[in-house]
Amino acid sequence: MDRRKFVKTSLAAGVAASFPLVAACGDKAKVATEAEAAVAAVSLDGAEIELSKAAIREFGEALSGPVLLSGDPGYDSARKIWNGMHDKHPALIARCRNTRDIQHAVDFARDNSLLLAVRGGGHSWPGKSVCEGGLMLDLAEMIRVDVDAGARTAWCDGGALLGNLDDATLAQGLVTTAGVVSHTGVGGYTLGGGFGRLNRKFGLTIDNLLAAEIVTADGKVHEVSADNEPDLFWAIRGGGGNFGAVSRFKYQLHPFDRNVLSGLIVWPIDQARDVLEFYAGWQGGLSRELYTGPAMMTHPELGQVIAMEVVYNGDPVQGEKELAPLRAIGKPAVDTVTVQDYKVLQTHEDATVAHGIRSYAKNAMIGEFSQALVDDMLDSFVADPRAAVFTHTCGGAVGDPGATDTAFPHRDVATMIVFFTGWMDPELDEEGKQICRDWHAALEKYSLGYYDNIEQDGDRRVANNFGPNFDRLRQVKGRFDPGNLFRLNSNIEPA
Ligand SMILES: Cc1cc2nc3c(=O)[nH]c(=O)nc-3n(C[C@H](O)[C@H](O)[C@H](O)COP(=O)(O)OP(=O)(O)OC[C@H]3O[C@@H](n4cnc5c(N)ncnc54)[C@H](O)[C@@H]3O)c2cc1C
Repeated sequence: MDRRKFVKTSLAAGVAASFPLVAACGDKAKVATEAEAAVAAVSLDGAEIELSKAAIREFGEALSGPVLLSGDPGYDSARKIWNGMHDKHPALIARCRNTRDIQHAVDFARDNSLLLAVRGGGHSWPGKSVCEGGLMLDLAEMIRVDVDAGARTAWCDGGALLGNLDDATLAQGLVTTAGVVSHTGVGGYTLGGGFGRLNRKFGLTIDNLLAAEIVTADGKVHEVSADNEPDLFWAIRGGGGNFGAVSRFKYQLHPFDRNVLSGLIVWPIDQARDVLEFYAGWQGGLSRELYTGPAMMTHPELGQVIAMEVVYNGDPVQGEKELAPLRAIGKPAVDTVTVQDYKVLQTHEDATVAHGIRSYAKNAMIGEFSQALVDDMLDSFVADPRAAVFTHTCGGAVGDPGATDTAFPHRDVATMIVFFTGWMDPELDEEGKQICRDWHAALEKYSLGYYDNIEQDGDRRVANNFGPNFDRLRQVKGRFDPGNLFRLNSNIEPA
């Protein structure tokens, strides 16, 4: 079976200011009607409020992008985010086109005490980038990426997708760490940490973040870096969207030959013990060039399988040598490992997890890939086509910074196990969530914490999870967002 067929799982079911406001200024009758007709909205603390249409019109006139109200063309597609379970109706959607637009939207939300959701790529599992009744600050039109090949850096808009970033950098023979599904947004992804297939060599995406332009709750624009507003720069490297709306990120890039030894090796599940036991003993000694980790799932054609995804970011001959013992295990049903374009792997799951899927995810950061973990992974395997576990292999450059060097504390980990369920039928929502929770519960005892970006219930345990960084994060939050305007995230309450 070829690789393309393998990745087409059953989950791939596949899924201008046009607000019609009034007319001419100076038309008194019209203005009076407008004043009467208000738009129902929800305040920051959840109360029902009303926004006058005159205020909305003034807001719309200040923005270069459209402000969309319910019933406007484009409103329904703009409010949809990736996870089909979140069907929310913002009172207003502000489609920002530049930093000035973001400032206007932040000012409008703050001045009206309006609930505010910031949408980057819209991949938030718990649906934090859309809100019921508030303002959705929508960055979907801000997707520009400017690569400076000489300096090996890229400025990337806050609404761009990982595919935009990869395309722009790879075209110049450069790359930075980007996640495994190309329609994920750089915004939430970067602010939470950023795991990807190159993280053992280049570190997390936050380790490649050189600077960012951010609009804070007072509407001010800050360009933050290690030298400028270092506390804020520290906080946005792992602290999520708590501190403002990021209009642009500046990334460090690395020279990269996009033809990499990469692919998938898949074994029937009855060989899972051999694969996992081998991996447990092997993964601690992997070179930084090699990224590989196990996944277990039920495939529509192959049945229950264990798979290892492989990317070797270096000389393929060396890569073949390092991979040889893995490829020699048992009898793989599929082995697609060959020298191929990095983009093949970077996009091969895109259709499997297409927009509109209903999905739940949890994860566990694992300190040691022990024999006990192997036994429990085998015992807890859920043979259900809606469920899968994946791993993001850590170690290498992920562990170079200390726990307090960036806001993201989980540096000393061997791997992250991701528990994923996906389905299409809304009637299966409760079942789909429960399968994921149960699988996670079976392995939670090995967890040192979680990666907030791939976690449905992150906001409940935020203090614990940030560990030694929590107090400093609260201080920074108190300084830049004392009114907690940016609260739709795993929220850090201001000190
Ligand atoms: C299919 C899929 C695959 C994934 N793969 C990976 C992976 O390989 N590696 C990995 O590390 N993670 C991965 N993730 C998790 C991903 O990092 C998070 O879902 C992340 O929040 C997505 O960012 P977004 O901009 O698309 O999300 P959004 O839903 O737009 O936003 C998520 C959160 O970030 C905030 N936010 C977004 N943009 C900005 C901004 N510019 N300024 C301020 N706040 C902002 C939002 O307000 C919200 O709180 C994956 C998620 C999905 C659904």
